Amino acid sequence: MQNKFFSQRKDRISNHRFVFVSVIAVLLSVSVSIGSDWIGGGNDLSAGSGAPESGLYVGAYAINISPIEFPVIVNGGMYERTADKVIEPLHARCFVLKSGEKKIAICVVDSCMVPRDILDQSKAMASKTTGIAVEDIMISSTHTHSAPSSFGALGSSADPKYVRFLIPQLAKGIKFANDRLQPAQMGFGIGENKNNVFNRRWLMEPGTAATNRFSGKVDDRAQMNPGVANGNKIRQLGGVDTDVYVVSFQDRAGKPIGVLANYSTHYAGAPSLSADYFGLFANLIQKEWSGGDTKFVAAMSNGTSGDTNCLDFTDAKRKFDRFTVARELADTALATLKEIEYRSDVAIEMKQAELELSIRQADEKELTAAKKLLEPLKGSKPRTLEQVYAREAVLLSQLPSKRKIVLQAIRIGDLAIATFPNEVFTETGKKIKTQSPIKATFNIELANGADGYIPPPAHHKLGGYTTWRARSSCLEEDAEPKIVARLLKLLGSMKD
Ligand SMILES: [Zn+2]
Repeated sequence: MQNKFFSQRKDRISNHRFVFVSVIAVLLSVSVSIGSDWIGGGNDLSAGSGAPESGLYVGAYAINISPIEFPVIVNGGMYERTADKVIEPLHARCFVLKSGEKKIAICVVDSCMVPRDILDQSKAMASKTTGIAVEDIMISSTHTHSAPSSFGALGSSADPKYVRFLIPQLAKGIKFANDRLQPAQMGFGIGENKNNVFNRRWLMEPGTAATNRFSGKVDDRAQMNPGVANGNKIRQLGGVDTDVYVVSFQDRAGKPIGVLANYSTHYAGAPSLSADYFGLFANLIQKEWSGGDTKFVAAMSNGTSGDTNCLDFTDAKRKFDRFTVARELADTALATLKEIEYRSDVAIEMKQAELELSIRQADEKELTAAKKLLEPLKGSKPRTLEQVYAREAVLLSQLPSKRKIVLQAIRIGDLAIATFPNEVFTETGKKIKTQSPIKATFNIELANGADGYIPPPAHHKLGGYTTWRARSSCLEEDAEPKIVARLLKLLGSMKD
């Protein structure tokens, strides 16, 4: 009896960038003490002709999720908007990976955010048609702010027509990716792009930061997007993550199947409806890496962009738009892709945990004042900042005081991915990247739910928009360390 393990690797590190280089297939005896659940699942590579090929299988499919009924509600802003046309189409970009007995799905959706109850329905449908366990499906949002609303946040509601359309569409995308499973190989690399990520939270002179009386905060010292000319800003309150992770899948003959990328900045801005730079990036990679193969799928997943965006408040001359951001990130990704080497002997692992957290809610006094402020609106949508946060206080008071959120860790060969259902600060993402036992680990935010910002506790003390109590920032102030600890535990359980 033979067991075959392929676990050796060599990493080349140079200038903040390393590319997974090569793998030596090492034949080890069965006595090697290595977690057998992590090893590709008992494929017999010596099988004769006619036997199924062993190793990695990958299928990819991008399903159009542009709405078919208009107008449609668009969220992502302070106040509700609607759109009546598609400027650039929206997609759910799905990858199904299989190795041995393990099969997983990764789906990146052109949406601002999608809440757990919707995604759970899509996952259940996809699971039925593909046999992939619900816990082995990851669905994340790119966080484009110019997409139909499937989540009520700040001044916007979810659009019920769009939600009804989206749920089965996501399931279909995963099924079609599953239908395309084929023998494959993968590799990954890490590029760097410093041009399009800036920390947007600034420490302000006392008494000068924006605030509002229904935020649950007082004496804010932090302000988001203070403006270049604002003389009250002192310094940025965090750093940036400049990594551009690029995971590449191709068939065994070297024909590209798909690329999953990851970068940690907010949307660039686009007219509705548009997939923003995320969609434009995918188009560029499809055209320039696969030669325009319509079956090829590229996706740009959002890393940890809770406190970062494309705006540089130290440079009045900086100009950018979704096209320049997509172009520059595509250039970084294409350069990285050229250095990737591939392997087919890739094992897959995916683990999910639920974490119960408390919800921050207003006290009786605040609620009474909030309801009084909202009375004149007679149920119509809020039109001022104060009204938005008063309404959020009331809506949060109607929700359960505790919530279970979904956390996942994924391992594909020597690469790991940690997922949060939140908008995540850079320093939180870096904790995962530096403390993960798997050297190459990246984060995907707004995955498997829409549970809002999770500022680290020290940031809660400083106040500012991302800490203001709302459905998009409602988890307890200790959520961040609890989530990080749980994710590191999940990643630790995968260490070989
Ligand atoms: Zn956002």
